[in-house]
Amino acid sequence: MESVTGDTREKLVVERVPKGLFIGGRWRGAADGATFEVEDPSVATPLCSVPDGGPLDALDALEAAVAAQEAWAATAPRERGEILRRAFHLLLERQEDLALLMTLEMGKPLAESRGEVAYAAEFFRWFAEEAVRISGEWHAPPDGNGRILIMRQPVGPTVLVTPWNFPMAMGTRKIGPAVAAGCTMVVKPAPQTPLSMLALGEVMAEAGLPDGVLNIVTTTRAGEVVEPLLRDGRVRKLSFTGSTAVGRKLIEQSAEQVLRTSMELGGNAPFIVCRDADLDRAVEGALQAKMRNIGEACTAANRLYAHRSVAAEFTERLAARLGGMRVGRGTEPGVQVGPLIDAAARDKVGRLVDQALAAGAQPVLEGGPVAGKAGYYYAPTVLAEVPADAEVCREEIFGPVAPVITFDTDEEVLALANDTVHGLVSYVFTENLRRAVWFAERLESGMVGLNKGIVSTPAAPFGGVKQSGLGREGGRVGIDEYLETKYVALDM
Ligand code: NAP
Repeated sequence: MESVTGDTREKLVVERVPKGLFIGGRWRGAADGATFEVEDPSVATPLCSVPDGGPLDALDALEAAVAAQEAWAATAPRERGEILRRAFHLLLERQEDLALLMTLEMGKPLAESRGEVAYAAEFFRWFAEEAVRISGEWHAPPDGNGRILIMRQPVGPTVLVTPWNFPMAMGTRKIGPAVAAGCTMVVKPAPQTPLSMLALGEVMAEAGLPDGVLNIVTTTRAGEVVEPLLRDGRVRKLSFTGSTAVGRKLIEQSAEQVLRTSMELGGNAPFIVCRDADLDRAVEGALQAKMRNIGEACTAANRLYAHRSVAAEFTERLAARLGGMRVGRGTEPGVQVGPLIDAAARDKVGRLVDQALAAGAQPVLEGGPVAGKAGYYYAPTVLAEVPADAEVCREEIFGPVAPVITFDTDEEVLALANDTVHGLVSYVFTENLRRAVWFAERLESGMVGLNKGIVSTPAAPFGGVKQSGLGREGGRVGIDEYLETKYVALDM
C-alpha cells in the first residue's frame, strides 16, 4: 500500500481488517447480529463496525478452545515456537499498516504505534525461544528411596482480557506465552480498540496457528461475555490487564472455579528526582515516563517528587520540554501528543487538574483541553507545589499532566512514594549508587527504573505488587503463568 496516501490509505487499512468474531478458525458475526462502532478519537467519528459478541458467542469460542486443547498441548514445542516466530516476522512486515490502524483506533502518534507493533512482535520472538525450554526435574529424595519426577504441563483453556491503551502488545504479552506453553485461548479485547486484535488474529492464522487455539470475541458486553466463561468449569485460567477495580471483580468471579489468575492492574508510579540527580537525564526520563502513550500507560509517572534544591529547575525544564510538544492527530508528521481515548478520559484529567489547583497547586504549564478540535485533546500541563495528598497524586491520571511535589529528605519521599495501594513501578534518579540501591530495595513496587524512564521489555518480568497485580508477564518467568507443575512419585 506504499503508493496510496492520506485518507485513501487510512480507509484501506481499516477495510482490510476482518470484521468478525474469530471462532474455531472462522470469521463470523454475532449470533444475534449485533454490531458496534469503533471510533477514531482524533476526530470523534466512527471508523467501522465490528460484531458485538454476546454470551452465546462466548460459549462457542470456549467450545472451540476446549476442543482444540488436547491436540494443541500435544503439538511439538518447536512447532509452537515456529508459529510464534512466523507471526513475529509477519507483524514486522506489516508494521506500517498495523501502526496506522492502531493510531486510527487509539490515537497515539504513528511513531509510538510503530514502536508498539515492534514491542508486541518481540513478545512472540521471546516466547518462540521459550517454547522449547520448558523443562522439568528428576532427582532422588533425601532418603534415596524412589525418585521425584517433576513435569510442567499447559494450564488448559484460558480467558484473556485486554485494555485499549496498548491494543496489540497487551495481547501478545499473553498470547505469546499461552501459545508457547500449549494453552488455547478466548480473547476479549477492549471495545475502543478491537481492530488491532482482529488484525493480530489474522496474522496468527497466517502463521499457521491451528483452528480453535486462538478465539477472539469483540464485544461491548464485557460482563455478560466474560463472567459465564469464568464460572464455566472448563476454563482453567484468567489473565487480565486493566484497572484495579475491574481486576478485583474478576478475581472474585474466578474464585468460584478456583482459577489461576494473572492480574496486570493499575499503577500510581512515583518519579523521584534526588538532590544529586543528573538533571538532563531526569528531565529526559520524566518526558518518557510521563508522555509515553500520551500519559495513558499503567507505567506513567503519576507523581513527580523533586528534592527542594532541584525542584524549580527540574520543573521549569520539564515544562519547557512538554510545552514544546506538538499536539494533534497521530497520523500527522511531527505530532507527539495525540488525543485521549474518549471524552470521559479528557474530562477526568481536567477534573483532577482543577481539584489540584483548588488545593493550592501552581500552574507552570497551562495546557488543558484543546478548543476547536473535534477529537479528545488535552495539552500537556505541569503543576508545581502540588499538595502530596491531592487527588491528582492518588488517582491514575492517564493523561499528559505532570504534578510536581517538593521533598526534603529521602525518608520523607520514600514514605510518600509508598503511601498508595498501588505498586507497579517506581522511578528514581540519582548519581549516588548507595542511594539508588537504598531506594530500589525499599520502594514497594514490582519494578524500579533507575535513571531510566521506560522499564518495559519482553525480556524482563513485568508486573506489580499490592493492588497493582498478581503474577509477571515476560522474562524467563512469563511462561510459568501458563504452566502447571505436576509431581510424580516413583517407587524404584
Ligand atoms: P478497564 O476498564 O479495567 O478495562 C480493561 C478490560 O476489561 C477491557 O477489555 C474491558 O472491557 C474489560 N472489562 C471491564 N469490565 C469487565 C467485566 N465486568 N468483566 C470482564 N471484562 C471487563 O481498564 P481500561 O480503562 O481499559 O485500561 C486502563 C487500565 O488498565 C489502567 O488502570 C491501567 O493502569 C491498566 N493497565 C495495566 C497494565 C499493566 O500491565 N499493569 C497495562 C496496561 C493498562 P470494557 O471496556 O467493555 O468494559
